[in-house]
Amino acid sequence: PKKIVIQHETKDELHKLAVTFNRMIGRLEASLEKQRQFISDASHELKTPLTVIKSYADLLLRRGIRNEEVAHDAIESIYSEATRIQKMTEKFLDLADTESGNSLETKEFNLVSFCEKICKQLQAAYKREINLHFNEAWITVIADELKLKQVIIILIDNAIKYSMDKVEVYLEDSKKLTRVTVKDYGLGIPEYEIDNIFERFYRVDKARSRETGGTGLGLSIAKNIIKQHRGEIKVKSTVGIGTEVELFLPKRNEK
Ligand code: ADP
Repeated sequence: PKKIVIQHETKDELHKLAVTFNRMIGRLEASLEKQRQFISDASHELKTPLTVIKSYADLLLRRGIRNEEVAHDAIESIYSEATRIQKMTEKFLDLADTESGNSLETKEFNLVSFCEKICKQLQAAYKREINLHFNEAWITVIADELKLKQVIIILIDNAIKYSMDKVEVYLEDSKKLTRVTVKDYGLGIPEYEIDNIFERFYRVDKARSRETGGTGLGLSIAKNIIKQHRGEIKVKSTVGIGTEVELFLPKRNEK
């Protein structure tokens, strides 16, 4: 039989290919593990409201029809837990969307008027003081408007949920980047928790977050969106004093 001789260079090439292949498999495995973890966490999150709904439905079936008060309480609880599930599934979809590699729909716009509108809407909705500060009246950014709006809402929403006082929003423009800071004078976050809060479903205080309607997904979604914009998100916080979340957006964003 004919002997196949593998050239030295070919061996080298094959070795390189094998290394690349191994790396790809490693990445695929990590991504699959992440998906598995997500499904497990998501099911866990859905389980609690579903159990509540089921037990109230059961109560209604057994006693509710005869007792108006019981019926009212049960229906109210079912409604609020169903709303919770609805909000959660919307967040699941948002998270999937920001991880899907879907391209952004970017355009150029003025960040100042954009944020003015958002702050006004949220101030009216939450009935809380939200002050907007900016160093220039016109700050041009190139971004996906809907997604950036989503991020800013997540940050202001958190600032409102985890504090009782006013919320400050600062816009600063420099040559290289644009910075958006959302500042609150609330609970704060312990330093060792700061990296964790960007993890999916992570809440510093699970009970409090649940009470305020939190899912633990907001900051993961915000981080993904800012990553898509090639920007950065940072948190500075002191327990009992308050929290500052900073977004850095690069000036030129070809994506
Ligand atoms: P959630 O929907 O629970 O607010 P997020 O992903 O937005 O989820 O935030 C994760 C956790 O980080 C929250 O549950 C909360 O414990 C903490 N956190 C986020 N923003 C703030 C803030 N401004 N002040 C204090 N804690 C915060």
